[in-house]
Order: sequence, then C-alpha cells, then structure tokens
Amino acid sequence: MRIPDLAIILIQYIIRVDSADLSGFDVEMRLKDAPPAFEIAMNAHPEYDDRYWRYLRNMRIEGALPGATVVRSDSAVWRVTLPGGEGTIRYRIVFPTPPESPRAAWRPFLSPTGGLMGGPHAFLYLPGHENVGAHVTVQVPPSWQVISSLPTDGSDRSFRARDVAELVEGPIFAGQYSNWGYEVNGVRHRVVYWRAPGAAAFDSVAFVRGLELVTQGAARLFGAIPWSEYTFIFQDSAFGGLEHATSVTLGAPSADLAQDPQSHLPEAAHEFFHAWNLMRIRPIEYRTVDYRPQPPSAGLWFSEGLTIFYADLLMRRAGLPRDDTTRSAHLGHILSRYLNQPGNTVLSAERVSQAAYANNPMALGDYSASTHLQGEVLGAMLDFIIRDATDGKRTIDDVMRLMDQRYPPGQGYASADVGRVVAEVCSCDVTPFFDRHVRGGGTVDYRRYLAAMGLTATVTDGMATDRDGAPTPDVGVWVWNDQSEGTLRVRLARPDNGWGRAGLHTGDRLIAVNGRSVASWPEFRAQARQFRVGDTVQMEISRGGTPTIVAVPIAVLQQKTVRVAADPSATPKAQRLRAAWEAGQ
Ligand SMILES: [Zn+2]
Repeated sequence: MRIPDLAIILIQYIIRVDSADLSGFDVEMRLKDAPPAFEIAMNAHPEYDDRYWRYLRNMRIEGALPGATVVRSDSAVWRVTLPGGEGTIRYRIVFPTPPESPRAAWRPFLSPTGGLMGGPHAFLYLPGHENVGAHVTVQVPPSWQVISSLPTDGSDRSFRARDVAELVEGPIFAGQYSNWGYEVNGVRHRVVYWRAPGAAAFDSVAFVRGLELVTQGAARLFGAIPWSEYTFIFQDSAFGGLEHATSVTLGAPSADLAQDPQSHLPEAAHEFFHAWNLMRIRPIEYRTVDYRPQPPSAGLWFSEGLTIFYADLLMRRAGLPRDDTTRSAHLGHILSRYLNQPGNTVLSAERVSQAAYANNPMALGDYSASTHLQGEVLGAMLDFIIRDATDGKRTIDDVMRLMDQRYPPGQGYASADVGRVVAEVCSCDVTPFFDRHVRGGGTVDYRRYLAAMGLTATVTDGMATDRDGAPTPDVGVWVWNDQSEGTLRVRLARPDNGWGRAGLHTGDRLIAVNGRSVASWPEFRAQARQFRVGDTVQMEISRGGTPTIVAVPIAVLQQKTVRVAADPSATPKAQRLRAAWEAGQ
C-alpha cells in the first residue's frame, strides 16, 4: 500500500497545564486528513535520551469514527487505526516520582510559578512523516508568560513548527520569569530567567552582558549569525543544560549567581557554541528525528572537545575572568587532568566519542575517559600544529570556519573529515596525528607541540591532598545500576589504581561492601566517603556467577601536575607564535 503523502497536513498539538494538578501535563494531538492507519512515536535524543515514553499515561482517541484504536506496539511506538483520518489523540506526561533533586534543566517540570514542557519530552510524531508541520497551543495559568524558540503564530501562546525536527528542538517554558535580551549583528538574543520561590537577587546586567560578549565573539569567529532569533532559558534550582538549534535550557541556581553573576557563563558559552558545533556542524551518525536509540558518534571529540575549547577561548577574548588566569595555566590544568585519567591517553578519540553517550558504562573496560577533555587537548595541539605550519597566519579558528562552510546543516561530518579540513587549513600532513590519536590511542606528544610554540611543560608526581592538607584517599571506582538485571555493577576509573590492582574489573556485580549489602550508587558513595587511607575495604562481588571477596587497600590518590611555561630560549618564531596565542589570537 502506498503511504499517503502527509506533507500538506498539519498536526495541531495542545499542551494543557492544570494548576490544581502539577504532577504532569496533558497533550492533545488533533489529526485531520491522516491515513487510516499509522504509527506515532516519541523521538530519541542522540545524547540525552530520557525515554519519556515511560511516563506517558492514559493514551486514547476521541472524536473519531467507530473503530478508531491506539495500541502500544513497542516501548516508544503506538499503532493507530483512524477510520476517516480524523480524530484527537490524548495522553498525559506524568513526571517521575520522587522528583529528582537537583533537577536537570532540560527535563520537564511544573511548579506553582512555572515549568518546562514540550521539546523532546512531550510530542509524539508520525514516523515516516517527519516533514509534517505542527501548530502548538499552550494552555497555562493566565499569569504565566510563554517562551520558546518556535516561531509564534499570532499569540504568545501558540507556535508553529515547519517539521518534526523543529518541533522537538523547541522546548517551551511557561511561567513568571524575567526577560532580558540583546542584539548582535542585528539578531535578537532573548534571555529568560525563572526564579524559584525565595530566590537570591543577582546582578542581571552582568549576567546578560557575559552572554552578549560571548555571542559577539562567536559572531566574529564565524563571520555571521545564522539564525533570526536565539533564546536562553535559564532556570533556578536546576543543573546542566541541553543545546538546541536556536535555544538552550540551562540550570543556574540564583545562589550561585548572587555570588558571581557569571559563575554559569562557561557552561552557557559551551551550550551556545553547540548551536554551531553540534547542531549545525553535525556528526554524520546522528539522525535528525528517530524514535530508535541513536547510533553513537565517532566525532564527539570534535563536537564536544572543540566546544569546550571555544567556551574558554571566547570568554578570554572578551576579557571575562577565568579561573585559570592565563591560557598557559589553563593548558597545564587540562593536560594534568588528561594524564590523570589514562583512558584519555590509551584509547582512541573515536572510541571514547562512541562511548560518551552510549549508555553502556562497560564500553571502555577498566578505563574511564572524557571525550570533552580528550577533544579539548587534541584541539589545542592541532591549533599549535596549524600555527607552526603556517607561521601563525592560520589557527584552529580557520578549521571551525571551514567546517561550518563544508558541513552545513543536513550534511553531517565524519571524524575523518576533520583531518581533511585541518590538512587543508595548515597545508600540512596531519595523517600521523589522526592515526595516532583520533583513530588510534596514545599519549599526545604535547612537549613537541608546545616546543613549537615556545612553551615547556613540567610534570610532577605527587599525592593529592584535601583543603586541610590531609592525603586524599583513592576512591577511583563507581557503582552503577544495571537495569537489565536490577543489579549493581562496579566501574573502575583506571586499571592501575588500587582497586584494579586488587583484582576488581568493570562489570563485576557488587553484592556487599564491608559486609553490608549495597542497593544504589548514592549508598555506595555515602559509604565511600568514610574510607580513609590505610583502610582495607572488603568488596563482595560476583563475576560469572561466582561470588568472591576482593580486599582493596585504600591508598593515597596519586596525581600528576603539569605546569606550562614560556621557554625563554625558544626561537624568535616560537616566541612570536606564543605571544599571539597567549593573547587569545
Ligand atoms: Zn556539550
């Protein structure tokens, strides 16, 4: 049977908030001219797949001809029969209980003074009909304002989306919030902040000014702003953030902002830069809209690593304060962290990328690694290679610009494409670098790349201490809940720490610690806080069905510290390159 072309129809969604019942919100999906049978499904986000289909309740069809049915056919998919092609599908998203605390800023919530809705957590779409447009109406208490990156449709409570991708990329915030903004290159950037009851006051001028300066820096870097409007949705009493095409949801507790109105700017700059590097310059593996879990991407070392690199650099270029006062200090800091987590130096950037959001804590074996950190270090080294090869005429900025031109939205880049673009920018051969660090694993030869920039690195080994100077116990192990079995499993930070040397491996089932059974990660963490250097911890585990007790002596955490400094004996060329780099050029 031919699938009817739905390109001309429009789905009407209504989100309804009842202030007397804030346990969730109701969604209505009005269909007209639909096929007699089709599926509806919830999109899976490539990074944060929160699987909100788990919280969908009371699915039903109303206002349809007799014989209309909606039946769940898979976790995220429902099969709909709709004689006459007209009817209204209704369901309710009921928030998980107990509510998480603190709350992730990208997950929906409701409170007496506002909440987050829509976006990737609320709407169902018709698989195979991703081009269908949408109209969204939000019914909320009259005292609430409503904001979304979705274009408005006549009133501030109704919005349009040209297709499903735009619909799920436009979360909606409704409530009593402050609203500021600024223009860069004539483009409006809106900043909203929702305060929790009893919120601390903060300097909103400095708060918004930081965002404006970062936006100006990004506009200078890319040469233009590719959207007609951008929306920052900040929320009190929440953490984290999730980037969208032209908006972002971010947690920024007012208590933090009262201390320093720019305390959350590094994270905001990171998510904002993602609007280019991830949303526009997009990993080729990611599907635009799909209810099936998205495939892992080999390119996140670039998407995440260079984004964290630029969050720091754009703030420096704008003269905004950084914790590491100089670029050299920052480089020393990230190299220290890179060396202290040997997964970064042993595993390929592509492998670490693929494990970043793969939801499989066992993907890297007994190692742990960070695609953000590994990518930031590799980005810094590629910048040095380019400056050295071009006598400072070109930098990693040229790579970002060329990636933006070569891989416009809809195109998608593969990890190997980054190598081709870097080679084009530097007119040099970076194949060995990509073989060794991107496709393969191995500690980056940072001394060599630093030397070309007139910099040296001094590495010292030492024992970690807490604020009072007491030795820090090495608790380089985590515990996670394997939901497929309902059991806890161990995950190591590195195979050569005391836990690994004692014989533990990532994936071991955890039964008890010091004779006490453990039911969750918070429980283990609370116990681990009591571990002291010199203790021996009895880890009762099961591997391959065989229970055993592993005795782990708690040692002092060993840490490397890298100091990056100018080399006064460097060549004039290297000194010149260093000066330009240190100045943020
Ligand atoms: Zn990110």
